[in-house]
Amino acid sequence: MKVLKFGGTSVGSATRIKALLDIIQPQERQIVVLSAVAGTTNALVEISQAFGSGDKDKAAELIGLLYDKYNVFISELFATDEGYQNGRGLIDYHFNLIESFSSHLFTPTEEKIILAQGELISTTLFHFHLTELGIRSKLLPALDFMKIDEDNEPKIDFIRGQLNELLLQSSDHNFFITQGYICRNAFGEIDNLRRGGSDYTASLIGAAIGADEVQIWTDIDGMHNNDPRVVKGTAPIANLSFDEAAELAYFGAKILHPQSVFPAQRYNVPVRILNTMEPKAHGTLISKAGATKGIVRSIAAKDGITAIRIHSSRMLLAYGFLRRVFEVFERYKTPIDMITTSEVAISLTIDETKYLPEIEKELLDFGSVEIDRDQTIICVVGDFGPDTHGYASRVLDAVKHIPVRMISYGGSNYNISLLLQTENKVEALRSLHNRLF
Ligand code: ADP
Ligand code: ASP
Ligand code: MG
Repeated sequence: MKVLKFGGTSVGSATRIKALLDIIQPQERQIVVLSAVAGTTNALVEISQAFGSGDKDKAAELIGLLYDKYNVFISELFATDEGYQNGRGLIDYHFNLIESFSSHLFTPTEEKIILAQGELISTTLFHFHLTELGIRSKLLPALDFMKIDEDNEPKIDFIRGQLNELLLQSSDHNFFITQGYICRNAFGEIDNLRRGGSDYTASLIGAAIGADEVQIWTDIDGMHNNDPRVVKGTAPIANLSFDEAAELAYFGAKILHPQSVFPAQRYNVPVRILNTMEPKAHGTLISKAGATKGIVRSIAAKDGITAIRIHSSRMLLAYGFLRRVFEVFERYKTPIDMITTSEVAISLTIDETKYLPEIEKELLDFGSVEIDRDQTIICVVGDFGPDTHGYASRVLDAVKHIPVRMISYGGSNYNISLLLQTENKVEALRSLHNRLF
């Protein structure tokens, strides 16, 4: 069985939804995961912000604008009056629900309910569209099987059990549709897998059912060797290993959700990134065997990084010091991305700053603490194993005109990371691209 995920642009208009049938083979057994229509989740975030700040008029205005868009959308999507009435009933139901929050106390729980509406609408619209065309499909409610625990980690055994049960109950169907991004949390409330989370949904489903392949259909012909939004002349990469793809996704390649490679890697399910606008293009195949020896594969950048330097003479010749520092971050459930050490200081980076004041206070017990915000990690991925040479100097040479705050090399065989100020990111990405490709 295959899992096919279509992102926001791929379902971004009635024309695009209709074009999905040029790609999907309805008679094949498959699960299709859909994102919300492009722009919807951003609009729902804005509506939630308006509710959160008590600005009901602004919320009503934004809801009205989004509703008008969907009204046009359904009038273009459905050919029959019955189809249109179904679509109309659907959007009226979801928009009434969104509007109803104007009379609620607005907390993060309500916000997550609002954010879930985009995927609930897109999947049902697609299902109604197929029904209108006489194609049988079955909606699998993601809220019935996609679950995360107290640490926001997916519960893969639960997902597998529930999903297999649902598939068994509908064994007379081949074509299943489900919502990306949305899930339930440990309290049973509606939650989500963070922005861009539909990729993660697809990978989790692929892992849970042992799919033959997960296909991520998007608006570009695969993973490129640099960020195409910033650098001209980037090129798609035909094959990547799970490790390489995981590093790129984690360190900022927006095309994949940061965690989306891990489930597929763990259960060895190949992931193909494909272009809905150009379905014949090869795209990128991510698999166990995808690495290519002896070359730089791709460059990615992750913004919003904060660097912390702890300077302590107590570190000199002491053991257990690093453990005590790491325990502070563990207590506040704050992941560390990069780390470098000297004899008397340690520098590390985080991207979650919710508990930074508390962390800083505890770190001050060890010595002096310096904090630098607005940093970017640039991650160069390639084959940098122990028998290769020269790559570190080429990378550093490419950024010799830019101040670099941290360098990490040798943590894995396929990653050289640099930390620099975000204002220098574009220049660093371009210069690295010119020197390395
Ligand atoms: P979707 O809505 O299909 O999930 P996204 O917008 O999340 O699509 O991801 C696709 C976009 O990611 C591309 O349009 C491109 O601008 C951006 N992108 C950033 N880095 C890369 C990269 N290394 N390779 C390809 N695309 C990238
Ligand atoms: N709709 C969600 C978002 O915009 C999830 C996704 O598109 O993957 O973040
Ligand atoms: Mg995405």
